[in-house]
Amino acid sequence: MSQKLTLALSKGRIFEETLPLLKAAGIVVTEDPETSRKLILPTNDPLVNVIIVRASDVPTYVQYGAADFGVAGKDVLLEHGGEGLYQPIDLEIAKCRMSVAVSAGFDYASAIRQGARLRVATKYLLTAREHFARKGMHVDLIKLYGSMELAPLVGLADAIVDLVSTGGTLRANNLVEVEHIMDISSRLVVNQAALKLKRERLQPILDAFEKASGQSA
Ligand code: ATP
Ligand code: MG
Repeated sequence: MSQKLTLALSKGRIFEETLPLLKAAGIVVTEDPETSRKLILPTNDPLVNVIIVRASDVPTYVQYGAADFGVAGKDVLLEHGGEGLYQPIDLEIAKCRMSVAVSAGFDYASAIRQGARLRVATKYLLTAREHFARKGMHVDLIKLYGSMELAPLVGLADAIVDLVSTGGTLRANNLVEVEHIMDISSRLVVNQAALKLKRERLQPILDAFEKASGQSA
């Protein structure tokens, strides 16, 4: 049986940080997604292709079996829900944290004390809703698709829930981190049917990923 495998990755940090793991599994992507216009990239293994999709679409491609496996951030997986996905390995790549941030002049602590109903802009509605519910805070969530840092600066929101790594973008926009919600890293996700039907092909790759990610962590 031909066991063709399709791996879903997003451009940028996930693609870059997955390359060494692929290499450990003997797989080399032979075209650069930053310069190629192709969305299906070949590898040195004629039976392995990489598809390039939006970071938040990776779980969907894998869930429906359009890709056999993929790499997605915990942020993205929490919003997706993980249905149909087997999540065997935390690859410990694309590490950052999900945080609440506000304008430097905004007194978050006293707003909470006074029971103010805050407006919070985020791409991560489910995670944000759960966080504030756990704290017993009433918030109005505003869904954005990017550039969350802008929202408090122009009065769209009192706070944002976003990913932070160095804090450089927050500082550059005069925002301060006021709550750490969770640590984020990327996981390998595998289609549940593919795991059964293509185990022979997949397992050595999963093993190599696991070994290589443990080493780099
Ligand atoms: P899109 O560009 O499609 O809107 P995106 O901006 O979330 O999506 P990336 O910036 O490539 O895409 O982020 C992909 C994943 O990398 C995120 O889901 C998250 O898990 C992780 N990530 C995001 N920002 C950072 C960061 N600053 N440092 C480390 N990892 C990050
Ligand atoms: Mg981004």
